[in-house]
Amino acid sequence: MNFEFQRHRVHDYRFLSKRWQILARKAGLKTLGYCTAEEFELFCFLSPALTEAGGIYLSAGIHGDEPAATEGLYQWAELHRSVLRELPVMIFPCLNPWGLVHNRRTDSENRDLNRCYHLDTLPRINAQIELLRDRKFRLAMCLHEDYDAQGAYLYEIRQKLSPFGRELLAAAGYYVPVDLRRTIEGRRADYGWIARRINLKKFPLVAEAIYLANHSERTVTAETPSEYDLGLRIQAHVAMIQRAIELSFLSTGRKA
Ligand SMILES: [Zn+2]
Repeated sequence: MNFEFQRHRVHDYRFLSKRWQILARKAGLKTLGYCTAEEFELFCFLSPALTEAGGIYLSAGIHGDEPAATEGLYQWAELHRSVLRELPVMIFPCLNPWGLVHNRRTDSENRDLNRCYHLDTLPRINAQIELLRDRKFRLAMCLHEDYDAQGAYLYEIRQKLSPFGRELLAAAGYYVPVDLRRTIEGRRADYGWIARRINLKKFPLVAEAIYLANHSERTVTAETPSEYDLGLRIQAHVAMIQRAIELSFLSTGRKA
C-alpha cells in the first residue's frame, strides 16, 4: 500500500476499520463489533490463540488527535500478519473513532474517555470492560501521543515483574528522539521512562491503563511526540509494540 496515500487518511476511521477487517480475515483473527459510539461501530480483534490468561492487550486511539498510535498499531499487525494467529492478542484498534475523524482528544460530548473507566454510564466503556472482566493479560499496552513531548516516553506501571520500559524506548529511539526532560507531565522521568507504583486497591480506576493494571502483569502507556514526523512516529509505535511482545515472551522477567 502506498504510504503517501495513507498519510492523508490517518484520520479516516472507516478506511482504518476496513483495512483492519481485511487484515483480520486474512490473518484469521475474530472480528467483534462490540458497541456503537456516536455513529461509529467499535471493533475488537481476537486471535484464536487468546485464552483467558496470558494474553496481550493492545489498544490505540482513545484520544483522537494521536494518529500515529492508531496507524502504528495497524502497521504492526500488518507487518506480523502471518503470525497473528499464534500470538494471543486482543486488539482494540481505535477506542474513539469520532475523535479520530475530528482530530480531537475527546468524544463528541467533550469527555476525555481516558478519564472515564470508573464510570458506569458510558455504554462503550461498559461494553469494553465486559470483554475484559475475566481476562488476565501478560502485557497490556495503550498507545498514545503527546503534543508537548520532546520525544518518545512511556509510563510503566510496576508490579511484580522487572521493568522493561527502557528497552521499549531504545527501540523507539531508532525513529524518534527519546524525551530527556527530568519531569514529564508532572512526574519524574528517567530518559523518558516514568515508573509508577500504584496501590490499585486505593487508586480510582479512571484511566484505561489503571483499569488494565488490575488485569495485566505489565501495563505500559507509550507516547510519541505528535509534532514530530508522522511516518517516524508510526514506526516508533511499531517498534515499541514489537519489542514489548518479544520481551514478554522471551522470559517471564520474574525477580528471583
Ligand atoms: Zn493520549
